[in-house]
Amino acid sequence: MIGPLSRRAALALGAGALAAPLAVTTARARRAYDIRPEPIGDGVWLARGLDEPITAQNGGAIANVVIFDTREGAVLVDAGPSRAYGEALRAAARELTGKPVARVYLTHIHADHVFGAGAFTPDTVWTTAALRDDLAARGDALADAMYRVAGDWMRGTETPAPARAVGAETEDVGERRFRFLPLAGHTGSDLCLFEERSGLLVAGDLAFLDRAPTTPDADLGLWRSALDTLAPISARRLCPGHGPAEAGSRGLKQTRDWLDMIEERIDDGFERGLDVIELMAEPLPAWTDRLAVARYEFARSVMHRLPRLERERLPARSA
Ligand SMILES: [Zn+2]
Repeated sequence: MIGPLSRRAALALGAGALAAPLAVTTARARRAYDIRPEPIGDGVWLARGLDEPITAQNGGAIANVVIFDTREGAVLVDAGPSRAYGEALRAAARELTGKPVARVYLTHIHADHVFGAGAFTPDTVWTTAALRDDLAARGDALADAMYRVAGDWMRGTETPAPARAVGAETEDVGERRFRFLPLAGHTGSDLCLFEERSGLLVAGDLAFLDRAPTTPDADLGLWRSALDTLAPISARRLCPGHGPAEAGSRGLKQTRDWLDMIEERIDDGFERGLDVIELMAEPLPAWTDRLAVARYEFARSVMHRLPRLERERLPARSA
């Protein structure tokens, strides 16, 4: 029997230790990630995440990962949700470039972006000091949460410990130059990268395109400032953390419009005295119809933002 073991620990022990309910889950969920990177530039590919929430069916494979070919090896931006995903990514990068992975940059703490990093040599994994500290402080709790949602897909996954902290600097890998843009707003630390040779701006989750943004860890003011920083960069192409890569800045504009919309709707609902359930059922503007999971993400935003407004703006009950 499982007893006090967490589900994660039980999975780590292997199938022999699994109680019947978990074994059923295992049999149902065990399958391989299907990673099919598409070219988005000369020697650059995008492994597109699914435009879905994280589920036991998709194993958390919802975030974009960018793969660059360089003379010195493949360079990845983000690593996907699990060790198994990272291993599939490593194989895909080897197939595309004929070389091992020289560098993995992590953009931010969300599980769908970072937990694949365990499949790579620790020395190759770099990110900001703030994200490195954040992973050390709460990475294991986030991994546990992912184990609960994605189950067997997460087998063997551990919290990555990036070897190097980067600031606002550049790194040359082979013939490519990566300019780091350490920003914040979607989370407490969002690392964007501009690669000069390809002209590709990798925005991480500061940009979403045709998929509604997630805001549970967001600071909307900082997020807008970060969009102000990204907007003037003359990129040939923008790659969002979720959604297609394309020329132009549609991802930045759409993300800003979404942030403005949820702030306005939720503040308005608060002023009108709506509760969470009533506010979640409010109509959304027609332009959001073409965004995947708009209703789902709006509901999540209501669930964390409305209680915060109530705490901040309603008078405290006297003792
Ligand atoms: Zn995110």
